[in-house]
Amino acid sequence: MLKSNLGTRASLLNTTCPYCGVGCGVEVQTTADNKLTDLKGSSDHPANFGRLCVKGNKLLETNSVSGRLLNPMIAGEKTSWDDAIAKVATKFKQLIDDHGPDSVAFYVSGQLLTEDYYVANKLMKGYIGSANIDTNSRLCMSSAVAAYTRAFGADAVPCCYEDLEQAELLILVGSNAAWTHPVLFQRIERAKRLNPDMQVITIDPRTTATSELADFHLKIKPGTDVALFNGLLAHLDSDKALNTAYISSHTQGFEQVIDHCQSWTLTKVAKQCDIGELELLNFYRLFAQTDKVVTAYSMGVNQSSSGTDKANSIINTHLATGKIGREGCGPFSLTGQPNAMGGREVGGLANMLACHMNIDNPEHRQTVQTYWQSPTIAAKPGFKAVDLFDNINTGKVKAVWVMATNPMVSMPNRQKIADALKKCELVVVSDCVAKNDTLDYAHIALPATGWSEKDGTVTNSERRISRQRGLLPAAGEAKHDWKIICDVAKAMGFASGFNFESSSEIFAEYAGLTQFENNGSRDLDLSALSELTDTQYNRLKPVQWPVNKAAPYGTKRLFTDGKFYTQSGKAQFVVTEFNAPQQHTNSDFPFVLNTGRIRDQWHTMTRTGKSSELNSHVSRPYLAIHPEDANNLGLKVDDLVSLNAAHILTKDAPAAPVCLAVSIDNNQRQGEVFAPIHWSASNASSANVTHLFTDANDKISGQPELKHAAVSLQKAKFEYSGQLFIQQNLNVELLKKFFDYFVTSPLENGHLVYFATDQQPANIKQSLQLELPLYDEWITASSSGLNSTCAMRQGRMSLIMFVSTKHLTVDLGWINSLLTNESITPEQLHGLLNQQPDQRFKQGKLVCSCFKVGENTIVDAINAGCDSVDDLGRTLQCGTNCGSCKTELSQLLKQHKPKKLQQASQHIIALEAVS
Ligand code: SF4
Repeated sequence: MLKSNLGTRASLLNTTCPYCGVGCGVEVQTTADNKLTDLKGSSDHPANFGRLCVKGNKLLETNSVSGRLLNPMIAGEKTSWDDAIAKVATKFKQLIDDHGPDSVAFYVSGQLLTEDYYVANKLMKGYIGSANIDTNSRLCMSSAVAAYTRAFGADAVPCCYEDLEQAELLILVGSNAAWTHPVLFQRIERAKRLNPDMQVITIDPRTTATSELADFHLKIKPGTDVALFNGLLAHLDSDKALNTAYISSHTQGFEQVIDHCQSWTLTKVAKQCDIGELELLNFYRLFAQTDKVVTAYSMGVNQSSSGTDKANSIINTHLATGKIGREGCGPFSLTGQPNAMGGREVGGLANMLACHMNIDNPEHRQTVQTYWQSPTIAAKPGFKAVDLFDNINTGKVKAVWVMATNPMVSMPNRQKIADALKKCELVVVSDCVAKNDTLDYAHIALPATGWSEKDGTVTNSERRISRQRGLLPAAGEAKHDWKIICDVAKAMGFASGFNFESSSEIFAEYAGLTQFENNGSRDLDLSALSELTDTQYNRLKPVQWPVNKAAPYGTKRLFTDGKFYTQSGKAQFVVTEFNAPQQHTNSDFPFVLNTGRIRDQWHTMTRTGKSSELNSHVSRPYLAIHPEDANNLGLKVDDLVSLNAAHILTKDAPAAPVCLAVSIDNNQRQGEVFAPIHWSASNASSANVTHLFTDANDKISGQPELKHAAVSLQKAKFEYSGQLFIQQNLNVELLKKFFDYFVTSPLENGHLVYFATDQQPANIKQSLQLELPLYDEWITASSSGLNSTCAMRQGRMSLIMFVSTKHLTVDLGWINSLLTNESITPEQLHGLLNQQPDQRFKQGKLVCSCFKVGENTIVDAINAGCDSVDDLGRTLQCGTNCGSCKTELSQLLKQHKPKKLQQASQHIIALEAVS
């Protein structure tokens, strides 16, 4: 709720976190002079009830103007908005006139607000006349969309977050929710605490922080989900656990599907999934015997060349048991992005129209065109993301406008994306940041408003629409995305369709379209919101669609009446085929590479990467590898390893484009490695893992297979490695001059650069001295293979560098204490040159970002007798704020709890089992 007007006096404003699809409400304190002074979770927002994860908690830290794009730019030079808009409009118009509407494209983002998305889609499909608008949501959940549409006749998520809490059995498939949807995970944790009978099963090739909560974990071979769920359907049949009444009243196609699944015997599934028959049977029995079951799935299911079939194989099991449309039941796709769902609503994917209408349906096309009174309407699907960049590469698409996304880092096959953008006649990028890997290719860069300035709506994973409210005026000359799109549309001669003065007007038009000629035929119906006044829109409370006459306060869950949006009104079973991932391993590329997110970063780090605290949990990209594999390759912790893939070797691309630090991890299956997705050429020499993925994608949804590449690993050999701590932010071009490998990350009082090189320490120092003439008083010391250098600037310790032939571990708290304005003492200098921190700076890896509690401190507390997460919280405060680190605390307890305590608790468990 809006509690005071912006700009008049101190206010408390409610808005939404811009990161993940949980869609948490955030309450922000603003001052009369436009400062954001405090932030907390909104206690009355139904997604989070006051909770925030560490990323949400640090929103204000990442909200500075530094690094923002503040002016329109043409060819790297500042220009006026009039000029920039005219150039974009003229070139788009000329290309459309000369080569037709399909010669241009938009590549947009789940970071846009629904109103931005709505006008972008309207311009492309209703005025330009092409469906060439696709989105980074293609990479996130387009397989879930395709599966829902095949089964239910609409992209309709049946469940709500309460179902995750009310389930008696919660199955999390391909989801590390503890890190990717932390607040939802905390709700699940609490539900399980309140109801110890609730069972949680995780299904994932990796043991993750999420599996800490699970009663059991099925560590399946990657890509075998269809076999697992087809086998479940066959078991439900043989176990007589089907809901035949539901099947006959509310579904179609069961016979064909069950016939198809019969071959998936327990033995065959266990073999295919590479798990034990007994654990498989346990899972199947639990599903069969439990009334309320939710299967929640995420990128591990979707980012696959058979993602749509995977999701349908899950949906089939819920339809066959009637575990849908009821409390605590349903197949639930958890979306990754904050507004992927909003984009789906307004037609942000190239194969949709708008408001869940179908581009292949002439009546739907007529409905949309009539409502828009637009000159044209796209008559066929446009290019999905992978095809889009292929068609830019071939020259068929000659201009692309990238909005609020970074395809150079997130799309597979990076070299192809780079080639395409290089060849493209016009690359326009609108973004709130001044630098990212994609902006390097922009002919025209347009400054867009950021999180605290944007004003509109977003929809989270449970269909809940929330207001994202403008807290601050636009930075520099930035404009809202919807305004930029409308200005370009007007300059192209389409003024009549784009004369919007506010996001409220756009929302009203969008809500009106959901109502237009609907009459209950379409799931997405916001008719109760189509006549909101500006004030009502500003005060809009979070609400789940449909919101109409029958449900004026929104709708928790769908299909409660067993009616679906197919022609027959019945849900459709879909035959799903097991197909192995397309990127096969072989003797040259023997390892399966899986990718994902880490706890404290978001996407390509353009925002979370600004926070030193968010960087301290994991401060450099890594490769998690099983100890046996590491041993076989002669790899130790922190060694650097080069990764390569077959499609790279066959092209003129640099050899081994990815080089990561080794993290030895028992949670990996042998032969499979894992790397995070976040780092890019903007902050590292060689860490963008999407280089290693081919264009393999799902033939139905077009979603790329980003969880299964085939790679080779080779120990990277450099003479020296080290860490450079420096007050100023050195750009990557400069770092390339000094080091062969580097990763840079912000510190509280400067920047950290991990590096490796064959250059002698003296040569590195000499190069630094040449490039940094304002640094003086250079001091160097060497002993036992460690070379330490420091330099002052204006009397302040401004550069510290350690170079060694061995791996170094340096406490960042210690370095931060030295890189301050204070002058350092002779004792500190001595400690520095010998790399010997004071005792108080020996915390180890940061675990709790909120209270800055490191691993060594936690282990000491465990050794001193702390024996539970709560106990650690009481003693050290760790885990008592956002709770994001609780699963890591629990892992540390397992690893370090004194043996006798562990034996005692095992004894108690054994006694409980007997009794
Ligand atoms: Fe933001 Fe965290 Fe909530 Fe996701 S879980 S919306 S990142 S606060």
